[in-house]
Amino acid sequence: MADIFANDFSADPYWWDDIPRDKSVGLPLDALPSRTDVVVVGSGYAGLQAAITLAQTGNDVVLLEAGPLGLGASTRNGGMVSGGVNVGKHTVLEPAREAELLAEAAESYGWFEAFIRDHDIDAVYQRCGRFVGAHTSAAWIRQQASVERLNDIADSGARMVAPGDTHLHLASSYYKGGMTLDRSGAVHPAKLHQGVLQLAERCGVKLFGGIRAGAIKRADAKLLVETSQHAISAESVIIATNGYSGDLSPWHRNRVVPVPSYQIATEELGEDRVTELFPTHRMIADTKRLLSYFRPSPDRRRVLFGGRARYLVHDPKAGARLLHRRLLRVFPQLEGTKLSHGWWGNVAYLRDGVPHMGESQPETLPGVFHALGCHGSGVVMMNWLGHRTALEASGRLNRPSAFSGRRLPSFPIYRGTPWFLPIIGKYYQFRDWLDMKSDRG
Ligand SMILES: Cc1cc2nc3c(=O)[nH]c(=O)nc-3n(C[C@H](O)[C@H](O)[C@H](O)COP(=O)(O)OP(=O)(O)OC[C@H]3O[C@@H](n4cnc5c(N)ncnc54)[C@H](O)[C@@H]3O)c2cc1C
Repeated sequence: MADIFANDFSADPYWWDDIPRDKSVGLPLDALPSRTDVVVVGSGYAGLQAAITLAQTGNDVVLLEAGPLGLGASTRNGGMVSGGVNVGKHTVLEPAREAELLAEAAESYGWFEAFIRDHDIDAVYQRCGRFVGAHTSAAWIRQQASVERLNDIADSGARMVAPGDTHLHLASSYYKGGMTLDRSGAVHPAKLHQGVLQLAERCGVKLFGGIRAGAIKRADAKLLVETSQHAISAESVIIATNGYSGDLSPWHRNRVVPVPSYQIATEELGEDRVTELFPTHRMIADTKRLLSYFRPSPDRRRVLFGGRARYLVHDPKAGARLLHRRLLRVFPQLEGTKLSHGWWGNVAYLRDGVPHMGESQPETLPGVFHALGCHGSGVVMMNWLGHRTALEASGRLNRPSAFSGRRLPSFPIYRGTPWFLPIIGKYYQFRDWLDMKSDRG
C-alpha cells in the first residue's frame, strides 16, 4: 500500500498546531487551596462554563484538570455546531419529550452564538450551515419526514436536497441526496476552548492543570474532594469529565461509557480544490449508523474527516488508515492525497441516549452535580449544560432544564471496560453496508 502519511505526520490533533497543550498554563500546583466554595472537575467546555457562571455570581471556584488544561474532547473535536439536530438520535423518545429536548437544544444554539459574540471569542465561527447526506433512498425519506419537526420546534432552517442536486454541496456521488440545515455552522474547537479558558481566568476561576480529582465524601456539612495534591473541602462539586470520567468513582464508571472517535486531516490541498469538493463550504454529516463527519478546515485548505475507527486498543495511524479509505469512498478524486494529522478522542454515551445534567446522588451525596453525555455532539451542548448546571448548583436556575430531573441510569453489565463496543461497531458497519447494497439493488 502506498504510504498515505506525510513526512511530518502528527498524531496530535490538527487544532493543536495553532493552540498546543501547554503544561505551564494555570496556577502552580502548590497554590491549590484546601477550601473553596465550588470544585469543578474537568477543563473542557462544560467545566469551564460551569466555573465561569459560578465565579460571575460571586463564588470562589477551583477547577481541576488531570492533564494539561483542555486535554479532552473539547480541543480534539470536529468543530461542527448546530442546534439540536442530533438530540435523541441514539434512542427512541416519546414525541413530547423529544420536542422538549429539541426546543432546549435550539435555545442553546442561540445562547452559544450570543456567548461568543458578547465575549468576543475568536473561535473562527462560520455560520456556514450543514449538509446531512442520505446513505440510502430510505434514509432520504426518513429525513424528509423530520424536516417539518426540525423547523417547527428547533427553527433549524432544514430543507431537502434531491439526489440529483447533491453535487451542489459536495463533489461526490456517494450520497443519495440529503438535507441542509441553515442554523448550523463551524468553529475552530481549540480556539473556542482557548477563548472560554481565558474568560474563566478573567472571571477569577482558580485553574489547575496536572491535578487529578479522586474520591468525593461528605465530611460534616461539607464535601471533601481528594486530589493528587491534597484534599479540598467545598460546598459543592461539579463533575464535567464526560468521556474521560474513567474511574473517578464507581458511580460514574457504571454510567458513562467512553466511545472513541477518530479524525484525520489531509495535507494542504489549496482553497480552490477544497471549494471544488465543498462548493457551499457546509459541514457534512450523514445518516449512517456509523456516521462519517467531515468539513473543510477553517482556512479551507484541507479536508478534515472523522468517524469511528478503533474502540479498545488505540493506534492513531491504524485509525487514520481506516478513515482514509472512507474518505476515498466519498471523494475518490483524492486518491494519492497524504495525511498530515490523525488523532482520536472520547465522547460519552449514557444509557438513555440523552445528555444529562443535575445533582448526581441527591440522597446519598447531596451537593455533587454533573454535566455529562454529549453522544458526539457536544460543542454547543456541553457549553450550555456546564452553564446550566452551575445555575442549578447555585439555586439560580429559574426554570427546570429538559436535560435535568432524571436519574442517570447505570449500564447493567458495564464495569469500566467497554468490551462490547467493537461488537456493536461491527454490527452497525454490517447494517450500513447491507442498507447501501440493497439500495443499489
Ligand atoms: C474526535 C471527536 C470529534 C467530535 N466532533 C464533534 C463535532 O464536530 N461537533 C460536536 O458538537 N461535538 C463533537 N464532539 C464532542 C465534543 O467534543 C464533546 O462533547 C465536548 O468537547 C465535551 O466537553 P466536556 O467539557 O464535557 O468534556 P471534555 O472536553 O472531554 O473534558 C473532560 C476533561 O475532564 C478531565 N478529567 C477526567 N477525569 C478527571 C479527574 N479525575 N480529575 C481531573 N480532571 C479529569 C479530562 O482530562 C478532560 O480534559 C467530538 C468529540 C471527539 C472526541
